[in-house]
Amino acid sequence: PRDEAAARAIATRTDLEKRFAGLTLPTRIHLDGRSVDALDGATFDRISPRNGKPIAKVSEGDEKDIDRAVASARRAFESGVWSRRHPRERRAVLQRLARLIEEHAEELALLESVDMGKPYTDALAVDLRVTVQCLDFYAEAADKMYDEVAPTAHDTLATITREPVGVVGAVVPWNFPLMMAMWKVAPALATGNAVVLKPAEQSPLTALRMAQLATEAGVPDGILNVVPGFGPTAGAALGLHRDVDALTFTGSGEVGRLFLRYAADSNLKQVSLELGGKSPQVVMEDAPDLRVVAKAVASGIFFNQGEVCSAGSRLLVHRSIKDELLELVLEESRRTVVGDPLDPRTDVGALVEQRHLERVLGYVHGAVEDGAERLLGGHRVLEETGGYYVEPTVFDRVSPDMRIAREEVFGPVLSVLTFEDADEAVRIANGTDYGLAAAVWTRDLSTAHRMARALRAGTVWVNCFDESDITVPFGGYAQSGFGRDKSLHALEKYTQLKSTWIKL
Ligand code: NAD
Repeated sequence: PRDEAAARAIATRTDLEKRFAGLTLPTRIHLDGRSVDALDGATFDRISPRNGKPIAKVSEGDEKDIDRAVASARRAFESGVWSRRHPRERRAVLQRLARLIEEHAEELALLESVDMGKPYTDALAVDLRVTVQCLDFYAEAADKMYDEVAPTAHDTLATITREPVGVVGAVVPWNFPLMMAMWKVAPALATGNAVVLKPAEQSPLTALRMAQLATEAGVPDGILNVVPGFGPTAGAALGLHRDVDALTFTGSGEVGRLFLRYAADSNLKQVSLELGGKSPQVVMEDAPDLRVVAKAVASGIFFNQGEVCSAGSRLLVHRSIKDELLELVLEESRRTVVGDPLDPRTDVGALVEQRHLERVLGYVHGAVEDGAERLLGGHRVLEETGGYYVEPTVFDRVSPDMRIAREEVFGPVLSVLTFEDADEAVRIANGTDYGLAAAVWTRDLSTAHRMARALRAGTVWVNCFDESDITVPFGGYAQSGFGRDKSLHALEKYTQLKSTWIKL
């Protein structure tokens, strides 16, 4: 059966490779509903992390390209072709786009997987599913939002209405390229804005393809422009643009800070930031079935190669159950298969690029130097493929002050720390600059509630990890950012309130 499974896997991989080779890749800027070259004709090479080979030359947008994309978005917004359209019609267009994305799900998952290295099966089962759900949710919301009337004096009428902010700039990372883009684009379009999206230079393909489908679905020209390019050029130009009304960003804290500066140095555009994390999984002495916990700990850090902002990168376990839990976590980790993203047996694909691989390995070496004990992994593997693969890695004897316990590694690297009581657990859990997510495992109802209140994070999971739904907001406390993606709360980022007084 093993040989049979391997043969099937090779056949699937070969089939996917063939399909990819047969695709016309979306590589040019999407502007005014058309694909165009960068004004100066510049392109950059996209290298697939699965084998280090070039797959495409993509238009490299710069300040001038951002400028014309913003001008096009402004024109489209002011024309009213979208913002003044009946909300029901906006809903219908976005629902058409959702159906088109569904129809092209396999193609988009393949683009995503080859472009940034995540397993194709995950791209299809997670990224594409969530993308479509997100779009359907905000499409449905488009014609179900009501405004307010304030309880003012009898001889006045004060209405509180929501208006689109105008031109929205969206800058997104490479770890869930299409999904992150959709978390921004769907609520922004549902509320009548025009969007200029800059995907990460490591993963521009799905955003470009999605924009083509948006035009096919009937999103008016200029309402969604996509400009691939680099951060310090295209990204900065969008952040600094005086005609962008709001900027929504997901990425690193370092770059998030820059966007606040860009806003201050230009037009004080409204900024929202979804940044990194160092999420703790706190396992109390009375945790439920440790096998279940171990599975959640392993998948919580190895899913998507650990390139997840909310990855459970710190395991905080009560000293009395540490040995037992750690053994189970190691068992799970050893079972985790690293391999070609196009191989259906793969759990952990390739890290996004050589530079990131080196960064992750740098953290591994640093942890050893700081005195942490490497129990598993820590090496680059499958180097002969030319791809950027790192095996699941587990460090024991990590102390809260080590870099590996404080900084975001963004790779498949788990740090194990111990505590004696709940107070110490909370102190360690809250002891980083981040506050994106946290989990607590306990059978005790009061402990669960007390811990959930004490953990400083935008999301707290109790007896689970990575539960997620489009109806539930997602975002950070502290230096994990501000503003929320998902749920109806996300609409606040793309609308502004107008108070209108009428003397009766
Ligand atoms: P990054 O900050 O390097 O890049 C993100 C985006 O910013 C890219 O599009 C990039 O081109 C752009 N950029 C880079 N430098 C810029 C500059 N000087 N000016 C303007 N734009 C610039 O982050 P990354 O490495 O792509 O993504 C990983 C980070 O994203 C991690 O820290 C991760 O935690 C975070 N993340 C957060 C969430 C969340 O929802 N909180 C989700 C996913 C990823």
